[in-house]
Amino acid sequence: MVSWVHMAKTQYKLTFCSGATTVTGADFLLEGPLDESGRPLLRILVDCGLVQGEKLATEANWEPFAFDPATIDYLFITHAHIDHIGRIPKLVHDGFRGKIIATPPTCALARPMLLDTAAILSRDLDHKLDQVYTSEIVDRSTTGWTAVDYGEPFELVPGLTVKFYNAGHILGSAYVEFMLGGTKVVFSGDLGNSPSPILPDTTPLKDADYLLVESVYGDRLHEARDERRDMLKDVLLENYKKGGTLIIPTFSLERTQEVIFEIHQMLEEKLIPRMPIYLDSPLAIEITDIYRKQIKYFNPTIQEHVSRHDDPFIFPGLVVTPEAQDSKNILKKPDPKVIIAGSGMSSGGRVVHHEHNYLSDPKNTLLLIGYQSVGTLGRKLEDGAKEIAVDRALIPVRATIRKISGYSGHKDSDALIAFIATSKNTLKKVYTVMGEPKSTTFLAQRVRNELGLAVESPSGGDSVVIDC
Ligand SMILES: [Zn+2]
Repeated sequence: MVSWVHMAKTQYKLTFCSGATTVTGADFLLEGPLDESGRPLLRILVDCGLVQGEKLATEANWEPFAFDPATIDYLFITHAHIDHIGRIPKLVHDGFRGKIIATPPTCALARPMLLDTAAILSRDLDHKLDQVYTSEIVDRSTTGWTAVDYGEPFELVPGLTVKFYNAGHILGSAYVEFMLGGTKVVFSGDLGNSPSPILPDTTPLKDADYLLVESVYGDRLHEARDERRDMLKDVLLENYKKGGTLIIPTFSLERTQEVIFEIHQMLEEKLIPRMPIYLDSPLAIEITDIYRKQIKYFNPTIQEHVSRHDDPFIFPGLVVTPEAQDSKNILKKPDPKVIIAGSGMSSGGRVVHHEHNYLSDPKNTLLLIGYQSVGTLGRKLEDGAKEIAVDRALIPVRATIRKISGYSGHKDSDALIAFIATSKNTLKKVYTVMGEPKSTTFLAQRVRNELGLAVESPSGGDSVVIDC
């Protein structure tokens, strides 16, 4: 879109390498300012995520980057979801030797997330891809990160300062603000569906000049939080009365901890009877342990709960099953029962085996509580598939499929508009990214029509110039 040679010294070039009109694969390149020979002083990446689809990682992830990784000075990470960090091993494999910077919780969460991805890829993909995701490269990819806390200024060079602000999406999640001289450029990362049971609300956006904003739910609205909690309670009670098995596919990071804490609260308030609830995900169990060490990043309500009680993530009836044999034994346990297992989109993990075992029985229920990406088994179930292929077997779907959209970890269309609106008077341009094309363009229309702002929905590979 732009020619590099036409750029003046106070300009930066922003490239939407990937994650423009797709939800996953976030990867944005900021280059500048130009030195006297016309080269950028710094090359900065924001996020380096896996492109996901039917599989955990599509083949596109193993294609060369659009830039030379050896020339990248800094990589800023908004949060530890794999669609924001999962391509770091490829980046390191291809020569990246720069600094990786993230909030302290993100630094703690990145390693188990990448190790889990490495384990899944080693089972699923061919040898060529294994070479990118070796344990040695994952080790190098997750060591030596620089932890920078929310609100702390981090100076790259004089006149170029970076700060993280709480995005309220998952533990450690941030939106990143680059102060380029007097111009403020903000990368939203994923923005949380505040208020969260665990996290503080998203910090309001202040005086941004340019904004890249996610748009996963750019064209949809969520149920209110009270409704979502009531709906979860109703589904738990329904399953209890039916005497069935309720399967909840969840993401190991944040969603699991939210659901467990909410069930804990419902039990305390005697809204539901005690029932066996299996947390059947080694990754979720490990991540919950990390949460226990990061209480200072929780919101005041749960901090108060922690000071009153011992542990927000343990309650009577909760059984954790890290070992594979314990997971298999769940099948023999009497109903009613609840199984919380990953992955959240049923694209792998133990939940798939439970779906194989339980979906053909109308007594059972599957509860979807998160975004289901196109092509995943979860999306097929959400769209009402009558039959699914699991582990090379065709399984008729007779179980009840329920969905609660309020559990999304992302802001809905109205909340995104409210987030952008707080910088309405300063924003020169908004770029809607990280959504399916329909939601990205819908959000762009709302930004234009309701806020009167200049807005673009770039395609992957597009570049723009930012004047500072
Ligand atoms: Zn995320």
